[in-house]
Amino acid sequence: MKLTRRQMLKLSGASLGGLALGGPISGFGSTQDPKTTDPSQRNSLYDALPVFTPGTKLNEDEMRITFLGTSCIPRLSQECNSVYVETGSGDQFVFDCGTGVIAKYNALGVPMSKMNKIFFTHLHGDHTSDLIHIYCFGPSGDRKSPLYLWGPANSGWTYYDPLGAHRGPYDDGTRAFCQNFRNLMRWHSESFSFGSTSFTDNPTPEEIQTAWGLKEVPVKVGDDADTDGYAIFPIELDWTLNGAVAGDNIAYYNEQTRVTVKHFPAIHTRRGSVSYKLEWNGLSMIFSGDTKPNTDMVSQAGGVDVLVHEMVMPAYDWALKNSGLPPSDPNFQAAMEYATQVQNSSHTPQGAFGYLLSQMNPPPRLAVATHFQAADDTIASAMRSVRNHYPAGEVTFASDLMVLTVSKNEIRQERAVVSDFAFYPVSPLKPVSDPLYWKWDDPVLKTAKVSDATAQVILTTQIQPTDPDTNKFNYRADGY
Ligand SMILES: [Zn+2]
Ligand SMILES: [Zn+2]
Repeated sequence: MKLTRRQMLKLSGASLGGLALGGPISGFGSTQDPKTTDPSQRNSLYDALPVFTPGTKLNEDEMRITFLGTSCIPRLSQECNSVYVETGSGDQFVFDCGTGVIAKYNALGVPMSKMNKIFFTHLHGDHTSDLIHIYCFGPSGDRKSPLYLWGPANSGWTYYDPLGAHRGPYDDGTRAFCQNFRNLMRWHSESFSFGSTSFTDNPTPEEIQTAWGLKEVPVKVGDDADTDGYAIFPIELDWTLNGAVAGDNIAYYNEQTRVTVKHFPAIHTRRGSVSYKLEWNGLSMIFSGDTKPNTDMVSQAGGVDVLVHEMVMPAYDWALKNSGLPPSDPNFQAAMEYATQVQNSSHTPQGAFGYLLSQMNPPPRLAVATHFQAADDTIASAMRSVRNHYPAGEVTFASDLMVLTVSKNEIRQERAVVSDFAFYPVSPLKPVSDPLYWKWDDPVLKTAKVSDATAQVILTTQIQPTDPDTNKFNYRADGY
């Protein structure tokens, strides 16, 4: 959506020339719903978008970009960082999966089986937290096939402080992350392994390498079978590569769906963060992850259809919102200094986002600021800064459940209307392998292996539906 001057003025007016203090709802105690009166409690830009109905078929020439999490702090209107991209050729990708996003994936009807390719920009918690749920409940749902996880290799960084003491290097890359994660989830994965955790037709790592154009045969972490749903295959990326040697930064290339995913270096907090660029059918999108403004982004984003780029509010505004302190409070200065340090080491300020866009040639068809707490007051402030440098191009602000449908002719911006009461969506189930915890159907005849759901529990103190000794009825075994 292009903000007209009139909309801009309206937003500016709504914010009364500055930021409304966030934190506790400032209309609390009044009988009016603060969402109608408080510019820090609503996002008029988002609310004005037309409705998208989940399940709407994607045309063969369209790419869809859905925002599941768009903030770095979990809030009910914006969970933490995740973008889901689907192509008209039937491929789909998860970019980051921060805190709280799985409920939104569910509500949109995205089954676990379509969340098997996850691309991490970096290993911060606000970009990785919901991996626990996605990993754990895939195999008990309809992802009875391995999880593939792209992310940066080791940072390799060693730090010497002024007295010569050093930290690192640590084993801090995506493979180590996955290895430890696999062990962390052992209790969970065993507990669900009384049911089948793999389809019989899952491809081998060699077949995956060919299908997805991987540089090497992927190697799993842990002791799961190569085709098991609890197997994790990390695909580590050399985060220094930027495509200077053609193709050196290709993370994924699928000949069948014609999708290419490339990576290039981001500048964020410490070494080892990347941004991703997805190209398909003459369309492209970039997901920056977290980064300071950088020249790799400028060269990669020239002519991109949709640029999804992080942005942070000014340190003063952040301190005001995040600390809840008035500027006169002695602790406010410390909050502001910390916010300034975070910005300096890690993020793209509002004006820098505008400048960055002004350097791209040609500019993106649509630039989307994300990782940003989007409300009427913050958007008005951001738009003023962005427009100082980038007066005319299309800019918008991501909020959760925003849906972009991209084709050569248009980029449709909509907001998905979903149920707050969704269950897990599933895709059609296929033949499955034997479970790991199994027993013979008949101890004598041994004609079939069946699930042994109680193999891992001690049942001696269980209250039976009907007491086998006294034949006393306690409750109905079917739950009624
Ligand atoms: Zn972040
Ligand atoms: Zn981060």
